[in-house]
Amino acid sequence: MNIETINKLKENFKLRNIEVQYFETLEDVKSYILNMIPIECTVGIGHSATLGKMDITDSLLKRGNIVYDKELGKDKEECKSLKKKALLSDWYITGSNGVSLDGRIVNVDHSGNRVAAINYGPDHVIIVVGKNKVVATIDEAIKRVKNIACPQNAKRAGFNPPCVTLNRCVDCVSKERVCNSLSIIEGQSDKNRMKLYIVNEECGF
Ligand code: SF4
Repeated sequence: MNIETINKLKENFKLRNIEVQYFETLEDVKSYILNMIPIECTVGIGHSATLGKMDITDSLLKRGNIVYDKELGKDKEECKSLKKKALLSDWYITGSNGVSLDGRIVNVDHSGNRVAAINYGPDHVIIVVGKNKVVATIDEAIKRVKNIACPQNAKRAGFNPPCVTLNRCVDCVSKERVCNSLSIIEGQSDKNRMKLYIVNEECGF
């Protein structure tokens, strides 16, 4: 990722009260996050392939944080309970499906827990994305989310909406639709709440 793009992202998101930081590797961003979040704080995890690769849940648990990550649930009810607790955690860490150079963050969600927590609830939200998620405009971000992120995430989660076979969105109403919520973050009222950490690696879908 070139320095002009990084600076542009920083400038455009700063205008919207979102702090951008750039990291060379996922390991770098993981260490930074672990240093920043106090051990006595609760942490909610919005599941993403990027966070899975970082293995942040395990590291937080091992050092003593209480972590609400649906992946820790033993059954459907426990997963649901963890998703609800994450909504009121002190910190929330998640990925994103698309980030535009002009300063927007786009996410889709199956049940809506992740976009709900990003929108409101936790006082601190960290969004970690690989360079592959950054596109020029909001329109491109939405296209990316629907045509690249959704088919791959659906496949990973074991759902089979039409985009899995077609590799493009046909605006379905399938019972297996994975994009029931589409969220565009355009800014924050609290300038200390949201941080966007961009990594110079290909991460997630
Ligand atoms: S609307 Fe249907 S086809 Fe389009 S991205 Fe969502 S699940 Fe896939």
